[in-house]
Amino acid sequence: MNDLLNIEDIQVQFHVWNRIYQAVDGVSFTIPRRKSVALVGESGCGKTVTALSIMRLLPRPQAHIKQGKIYFDNQDLLKMSLPRYQKYYRGRLIGMMFQDPHSVLNPVISIQTQITEHVKYHLKMKTSEILDKANNIFQLVNLPAGEDILKKYPHQLSGGQIQRLMIAMTLMTDPSLIIADEPTTALDVTIQRQILDLLVALKSERDLSYLLITHNLAIVHYLVDIVCIMYAGQIVEWGPCEAIFQEPLHPYTRGLLDSVLTISKETKTKIRGIPGMVPEACDFPSGCRFHPRCPEKMNICSKEMPMLSENKEHAVRCWLYG
Ligand code: SF4
Repeated sequence: MNDLLNIEDIQVQFHVWNRIYQAVDGVSFTIPRRKSVALVGESGCGKTVTALSIMRLLPRPQAHIKQGKIYFDNQDLLKMSLPRYQKYYRGRLIGMMFQDPHSVLNPVISIQTQITEHVKYHLKMKTSEILDKANNIFQLVNLPAGEDILKKYPHQLSGGQIQRLMIAMTLMTDPSLIIADEPTTALDVTIQRQILDLLVALKSERDLSYLLITHNLAIVHYLVDIVCIMYAGQIVEWGPCEAIFQEPLHPYTRGLLDSVLTISKETKTKIRGIPGMVPEACDFPSGCRFHPRCPEKMNICSKEMPMLSENKEHAVRCWLYG
């Protein structure tokens, strides 16, 4: 296995009020080194639960990984002891950026203390070395160096600054993979663009891989090499970004692309969208889980679940393709 991350047949269940919610159902994908992969789909499709499984941050005791394997750099993350995982992987080799950085940072502790505590937990470094490194990384992410940021508290930073700070904190431990869950959703569009430019630049400068969790196809097109489209806990299509945008195969992928708003003076394109809702994870329809919303459904679709095709370049889970 030469890929950085390898996920094999992961199944995640939630047990709530005597009901079983199959949030992730047989998801497999790989992230090659120095590549970006996106998990794309509507809310409730299992994207974030997949990411939390990699981070071993599923809410306990309701959620558990029923089966599957997750390898990072050939190490089996799910068999590893939790202390070892926390010290050497989560927050160290695998960084995570959340949609709302305020939920991660402590509001009553200065940024300097939060950065030094975070780094000292993972690496043997003196405070002076950490602060030197922080100032270098601040320059890289276009934050003011020195005490301008370090002496402040999280609430004293703007939305753009705090997201840059999250990127800087993630980079402090020299990760190989960054998992970014809707990293720009809470930001103004102009700041969104700056953060995306920064992520693109850092990817090549620091040999990073990304796992991006998003419903925003514009961001995917900008940042990502490989796209996995998720629906109702399963991957329904995956392939290189260009193939997904230029030759989408699954009716759900086509629906997502038809839902993107474009601005043009010449044409007023009608947004078609996808009728209906994602089914609840405790009550999936029989056969293809997309069939109640699919404009191309056939007789077989409600009776038998299609498998993901074995095409190694561009795979789809749909009876239209046999
Ligand atoms: Fe639509 Fe049938 Fe394909 Fe499902 S299997 S996406 S219902 S055509």
